[in-house]
Amino acid sequence: MSRIVVLDPNIVNMIAAGEVVERPASVVKELMENSIDAGAGSISVSVLDGGKNLISVNDNGCGMDPDDLAAAFESHATSKVKNNLDLRTIATLGFRGEALPSIASVAQVRAVSRTKDSTGAHSIEIDYGQKQAVKPCSADYGTTIEVRDLFYKTPARRKFLKTRNTELSHVTEQFTRIALAHPEIDMTLSHQEKELYQLYACQSIRQRIKELFSSQISENLIHTQSEEKGLDIQALLGRPEIARTNTRFQYIFLNGRFIRDKFITHAIREAYRGLLEPDRFPVVFLFLQMPYEDVDVNVHPTKIEVRFYNANLVHSQILGCLREKLLGTDLDIPAKIAPADSRIPASNVAKTTGPENQKVVDAMADFFKKHRPVQSQHNLQFTPGKTASARTGTIIEKKAGAVQIHESYLIMQTEDGFVVIDQHALHERIIYEDLRARLGENKLESQKLLIPESFELTDIQADAVDKHHDIIEKLGIELEPFGPKTMAVQAFPVLLSGANPAEFMQDLLDLITDPQLTRDTDKLLEELLCMAACKAAIKAGQRLTESEIEQLLSDRERVQSSSRCPHGRPTTIKFTIGELEKQFKRT
Ligand code: ADP
Ligand code: MG
Repeated sequence: MSRIVVLDPNIVNMIAAGEVVERPASVVKELMENSIDAGAGSISVSVLDGGKNLISVNDNGCGMDPDDLAAAFESHATSKVKNNLDLRTIATLGFRGEALPSIASVAQVRAVSRTKDSTGAHSIEIDYGQKQAVKPCSADYGTTIEVRDLFYKTPARRKFLKTRNTELSHVTEQFTRIALAHPEIDMTLSHQEKELYQLYACQSIRQRIKELFSSQISENLIHTQSEEKGLDIQALLGRPEIARTNTRFQYIFLNGRFIRDKFITHAIREAYRGLLEPDRFPVVFLFLQMPYEDVDVNVHPTKIEVRFYNANLVHSQILGCLREKLLGTDLDIPAKIAPADSRIPASNVAKTTGPENQKVVDAMADFFKKHRPVQSQHNLQFTPGKTASARTGTIIEKKAGAVQIHESYLIMQTEDGFVVIDQHALHERIIYEDLRARLGENKLESQKLLIPESFELTDIQADAVDKHHDIIEKLGIELEPFGPKTMAVQAFPVLLSGANPAEFMQDLLDLITDPQLTRDTDKLLEELLCMAACKAAIKAGQRLTESEIEQLLSDRERVQSSSRCPHGRPTTIKFTIGELEKQFKRT
């Protein structure tokens, strides 16, 4: 009997779904792209439970007649390419004819569609690949596709979905990418029936960036453009002061499609060379247009990677265009307090300038709210020349101490104003400096754990532990085998007593298996120390006792570079009386 069989189409679709449908965000991406390809001027996305329960995408595009509605869910059914010549000049976002059948093979789907010239709409339902007949129904023209309970019959895959908030953040990221690539379309995103974004087609791209991120970002972008040899570049380049700790804020679009490309990322990095600290990454929005035949988009199932036929030319043109603009721009901007009206909307905080800035603004607002009555009661005048304590009266009772606020920040009076200290960032720096100093002398002092903490590891990770045993030993970590694919931490460094040993080991395993780091021992050690400091440091949201605050402040005096955490974020922000006087319109 022959062993080889041709797979059932539904299994084929489920296999394709493995590549195309990873999580609710992938469904959002595929459905929004279909709406764009259908010529929609308006797209609404609505999700429940981070998309795990429901993803619904509605558009006013060309719609489908009943035959197309049934055909759309067949595998490799597409209206976008007809022959191999079309494949060379793909102008649409989709073309593989895989998304709808894949999605419908791993969820409950209902699609309703109506073309512009039809008098009525039609609907179809598919449950885990089981297709029902197309039925007439009533609906406006355009298409609505609802996807319920993704992976509900495949518990192994459902288990991989993360919490509602994590899934929502992936959905938001996909929505953001598509919204940036297509500012000519009205778009809305709702979660639990609450509108998160309402973006209008008439907006400028800057306005869209402001709504999707923050005014801090949109106001600190420098525009440049170039058009040469068929490559059209439009770029919005973030000023160095809004640079980030990773490349997440580099949005690259090619012919209306969000892509990741290592050549372009490299060109961006080169363009900012010397303008940023080495561990900072610029915010960049790059919009590229080039002839469709100069690039192959058929190299990746979700098309996030493309192949340029002349990658060197693309690299050099982008580098030239960006570098010329950056070098010709005065980038030396004096630091200033953000005006109250540039506050970041709360819903955007996590994905924009990072919660830290919003927290400082909130902390400031809170601080002033608490202390304003005291000020007006005493009718204090800020008179330059007088001592700080005389000028601030009872605002800060302890001169040398500090008022922990929001269980995250310390506020301390200084000679000419006050400083806000990020307790986590400062403690991180202190631990980092101590780690460096001690490691320079010897291995770290460790203590035996009362109960060894076990952790699982793969073969690759076990190899890496073997390979880097000297670094692990030097850090004061003692490991012993603890059964199949399991090890246990027997002793852990005293300096890192604030960290959980098993969690720490997970991060350590990530770092020692990162191919980029293992090639460079110095960089690996540096990353390990930063990670260790971060894990062991007191956290934001942690209440501190008086003596802990005192300890932190005295350590601050002791360590070098206490103004920045090891990742380069500030630990301290200074506010002068002069700035306050200006803000309160006293001058
Ligand atoms: P692809 O986009 O690669 O063609 P899909 O499986 O995503 O494959 O979609 C199959 C077909 O269904 C598309 O080619 C298109 O003709 C039709 N279709 C899908 N979504 C829509 C929509 N929102 N409006 C109109 N037609 C659609
Ligand atoms: Mg598609």
